[in-house]
Amino acid sequence: MNLSDARARAEQLRAEIERHNRLYYIEAAPVLSDRQYDQLYDELKALESSHPELVTPTSPTQRVGGAPIEGFTRVQHRAPMLSLEKTTDIRELELFEKEILRKLPDFQPDYIVEPKVDGVSISLHYVEGLLTQAVTRGDGEFGDDITSNIRTLREIPLRLQGDQPPPPHLEVRGEAYMNEADRIALNEKLRERGDKTFANTRNATAGSLKQLDPRIVAERPLRAVFYSLGYTEGAHFATHSEELNALRSFGLPVPQIWQHTNTIAAAETAARDLKEREGELPYEIDGAVIKVNDNTACRALGLKTNVPAYAVAYKRPEWFNEATTKLERIVIQVGRTGVLTPVAEVAPVFLDGTTISRITLHNEEEIRRKDIRIGDTIVIKRAGRVIPAVVRVVDDARTGNELRFSMPTTCPICGSSVASRELSGERGGMEVALRCENPHCPAQEARRIEYFASRAALDIDGLGGAVADKLVERGLAHTVFDLFRLRLEVLAKLNLGTEDKARLLGEKIAQRILAALDKARSAPLAKWLFALGIPSVGETIALKLASAHQTIDDLAHSELIARIADSPELDAQIAAANPQGQQNRGKPESEKEKLAQRHQLLIAQRAALLDEIKQNNLDGIGPVVAREIVTFFPSLAGNTVLRELKALGINPQSEPSHTPDTSGPFAGKTVCVTGTLNAFSRSDAQAALRKAGAKVVDSVSKNTDFLVVGSDAGSKLDKARKLGIPTLDEAAFVEHLKS
Ligand code: AMP
Ligand code: ZN
Repeated sequence: MNLSDARARAEQLRAEIERHNRLYYIEAAPVLSDRQYDQLYDELKALESSHPELVTPTSPTQRVGGAPIEGFTRVQHRAPMLSLEKTTDIRELELFEKEILRKLPDFQPDYIVEPKVDGVSISLHYVEGLLTQAVTRGDGEFGDDITSNIRTLREIPLRLQGDQPPPPHLEVRGEAYMNEADRIALNEKLRERGDKTFANTRNATAGSLKQLDPRIVAERPLRAVFYSLGYTEGAHFATHSEELNALRSFGLPVPQIWQHTNTIAAAETAARDLKEREGELPYEIDGAVIKVNDNTACRALGLKTNVPAYAVAYKRPEWFNEATTKLERIVIQVGRTGVLTPVAEVAPVFLDGTTISRITLHNEEEIRRKDIRIGDTIVIKRAGRVIPAVVRVVDDARTGNELRFSMPTTCPICGSSVASRELSGERGGMEVALRCENPHCPAQEARRIEYFASRAALDIDGLGGAVADKLVERGLAHTVFDLFRLRLEVLAKLNLGTEDKARLLGEKIAQRILAALDKARSAPLAKWLFALGIPSVGETIALKLASAHQTIDDLAHSELIARIADSPELDAQIAAANPQGQQNRGKPESEKEKLAQRHQLLIAQRAALLDEIKQNNLDGIGPVVAREIVTFFPSLAGNTVLRELKALGINPQSEPSHTPDTSGPFAGKTVCVTGTLNAFSRSDAQAALRKAGAKVVDSVSKNTDFLVVGSDAGSKLDKARKLGIPTLDEAAFVEHLKS
């Protein structure tokens, strides 16, 4: 292709890609499959790499910049980013209006009611239509420059769109956020790599924006929404609703729902309505914001001390399912991988249908950040509707007798030293978590056995946490392999009680456990890989690895995995050989030519690797995971696994095919499972769905096609009803599978 054709094609591809970003994110009406989108992107990327002079800063390929930065630059906001006054009932809203009328007696009530997005505030500057800077709110006056991170969000235009010429300077303000389903999926990935997970969407957003490496940010499912203007030149809007419309016409995402009302009582109703319709929004909201629509009135009203006088946040307490209780004690739990987790024991309190007496505090950083002390009165909430979390401490209730907590310096179970690990991958730094360093720690041994026996793993019926504890304590099993050497007589006599007050496991349960263990011997490879607790190998990764390898030995010697593990090396070679690269700029032409040849060769190698990864269904297995696998098998733990399996005569095999049936009864459908089914375990139901062609997801969103509902279904069912998503009970599910 000659240069001018290439230029034209690149322009066309860029416009196409931006159009599809808009359709996908802003209009929520994608017309391309992910694959088709990737094809456009790959074509553009290829075109630009053979004609580097065609690359423009606003090209979609330039969203993810180069190397990680050292730290963020502090930037002063042109106008401070303010907080909002809070109101909790109609009476306070009437006072808000009264205050306005006192200052502006002629004010004609005219309000916009918007969602109060529970994300992280950001400010973006567009100069002559180009995104030049993005800044966090920080302390309101100074924030951090996070431009290269924000550029990775595909729904944020790098260049303002629309028919109107862009104003010379436009600052737009809004929130970056992550939706709950994306957070859960992200946590799964992080957990598989042994990285820190996020307790709620706001932490996930803040944590992602704080990354110094934009390439990591690009992999985080961050999104954004904009609801106001900051500093502007050459743009004037008479009302707030005009601003919202302008933002949208520039191609920026704005709240999908907002209402215009002419009385404060109607605004209150609109706020309630908004909270009711939260399920339709892709973000969590922590209330509504009520704003005076007329900008002239807003300017006249100005500020009251530190908050605008023309807008309020409206948050009814019952919207947040919060409860107050007393923190009595903090205990330490030691997990499977040795992580020490502080857990708060609180005075039992009823919240959202269950009694809560223990709440995880995650880690010391969290305790310090929220300044949680033993004896504190705390406000708790069921974050993500499931796990209870401490929202904040009630400062007014402090007596001065509360005690600060610090993490122990030795493991409370085995007394070994504890330490924090270096983070894996190129990011470096230290993990927040402290770990017990003793691989023979009884707590770790018991948790590994419990994990091995769990439903998602080898499903050893009868072997739960309490039995695992006692097996280790009584010296009957220290590893999962010891389980296969247990004899019925011995197991049946396992004392689950104390020395004085014995309570034996009994023959019946012992038989059940042994039968399940026997069955586990021939469980598929994927289940075994997951059950063994190999670092980074969670359920999804285990499935992928098993579909590309026949046995565990094959995986241990996998050449493809080794090549993935080494791929950063290949990338580095490609960069070094790039004749256009900085380091090669001054080189003589003859040398450049040689480099160019080598560059092409290496690129072809990488393309071949990517191809092979795709063919083997291994996309999603990146260098970090591959490296973990490559280092695991030669390690002491890995060696033990291979040796013990051989000694026990266990050789798990990959199942014939995991490829979903594209003509199956659930082909192309996105399905979620909730509650307890009679004939299936949760993972069996999901496996059956996958086999029938479904994409199985963990939470309900508007993109879900069906929810399979067992007994005791909870919030997912509520959400499905709210969104009008069809549900299938077990009978209908089975019926549909057969069809
Ligand atoms: P707060 O931090 O609770 O005082 O609330 C003020 C913050 O709410 C603002 O700084 C914004 O970051 C955020 N916010 C979320 N949604 C909106 C909205 N629709 N309008 C204005 N501010 C919002
Ligand atoms: Zn220990």
